[in-house]
Amino acid sequence: MQAQEIHKRTLKLMGSRFEITVTAENPEKANQYIDTAVGEIQRIERLISSWDPASQTSEINRNAGIKPVVVDPELYNLISRALKISEITDGAFDISYASMDKIWKFDGSMSSMPSEDAIRNSVSKVRYQNIILHPEDHSVFLKKEGMKIGFGAIGKGYAADRAKDLLRSQGITAGIINASGDMNTWGTQPNGDTWKVAITNPLNKEHAFALLPLENRAVVTSGDYEKFVKFNGVRYSHIINPKTGYPATGIISATVFAPKAELADALATSVFVMGIETGIDRINQLPGIDCIIVDTNGKVHTSKNIKLDSL
Ligand code: ADP
Ligand code: MG
Repeated sequence: MQAQEIHKRTLKLMGSRFEITVTAENPEKANQYIDTAVGEIQRIERLISSWDPASQTSEINRNAGIKPVVVDPELYNLISRALKISEITDGAFDISYASMDKIWKFDGSMSSMPSEDAIRNSVSKVRYQNIILHPEDHSVFLKKEGMKIGFGAIGKGYAADRAKDLLRSQGITAGIINASGDMNTWGTQPNGDTWKVAITNPLNKEHAFALLPLENRAVVTSGDYEKFVKFNGVRYSHIINPKTGYPATGIISATVFAPKAELADALATSVFVMGIETGIDRINQLPGIDCIIVDTNGKVHTSKNIKLDSL
C-alpha cells in the first residue's frame, strides 16, 4: 500500500457542522472519498428530515391519525430501533417528542415559568407507544392526530454510522466522521496510532475536557452549553422530558461511548432526561456502553468502566 496521508473537510450538513477525515494516498483520492461520504449523508437527510416536505418522514407526519404510510425498509428499521431505545430508557428517549408545543424558549426571551397546565398539555401527543409499525409492508402509523416524529437526537449519529460503513465497504482504510460532536472512527492514523478524539469540556469550550483514544467505536456528547434557562436558581436544559414536559435539570453535558454513533447519540440525550443516578445505572446495564456526565456543579460522574484518572 502507498503511503497514506490524513485529509479533512469541514462542511454544513443536516443543519450542523460536519468534519470528515479520511486517509488516502493523495488529495484527489481523498476528495473523492469525502464526496462519497457527503452524498450518503445527504441521502439520509432527504429520508429522515422532518423539515423537508418531500421526505418519507414528513409523509408519515402528515398522515398522523389518518393512515399508515409505507416507507423504505431503511427508515422503517431506524424507527424500529428508535422504539427499542425508548423501551430501554423507559420513554426518556422518544422520537414523537417532535409534536411537543414549544413553550420553553432558550434564547433568553423567557421571563417566567410556563403554567403547569401549559407544561402538561405540551406533551399530550408525545407517546412512543402510539407509533405503530407494520412489518408486513413496513408501514408506519402515528395513531393520534397531531402526532409527529423527528430524528433530532439520533439522525446525526445514524448518518455518521452510515457514512463510515459506506467508506469502509469501499476499502477506505481509516477515517473519522464527526457530526458536530457525534464521532465515529475506523482504522488507525497512518503512523499506526489510534485516532484520538477531543471530548468537549462543557465548562470551558476553548479547551477539550479530554483527548481520548477511539478505536472503531463511537462517542457522542450532548450538552446544554448556552441553551438553557434559569428560574429560582434551577438550570433547565433544552432537552425535555417527554413524559412530564419539564426540561431536564442537573446535567450540563453527557458523553456516551458505544459501538455505534446512532445508539450513543440517542443515549446521550436520554441520560439528560433520566438524570445522573438513573442514567448511570442504565448505562452500566448495557454491555459495551460507557458514559461521562458533568453535573451543574461541574462535578464529573462516570459509568463503571471509565477510569477517571486516565482523563
Ligand atoms: P444536539 O443534536 O443538539 O447535539 P442531542 O443529540 O441531545 O443534541 O439532541 C437534542 C435534540 O433531540 C433536540 O433538539 C430535539 O430535536 C430532540 N429531542 C429533545 N428531547 C428529546 C427526547 N426526549 N427524545 C428524543 N429526541 C429528543
Ligand atoms: Mg443525541
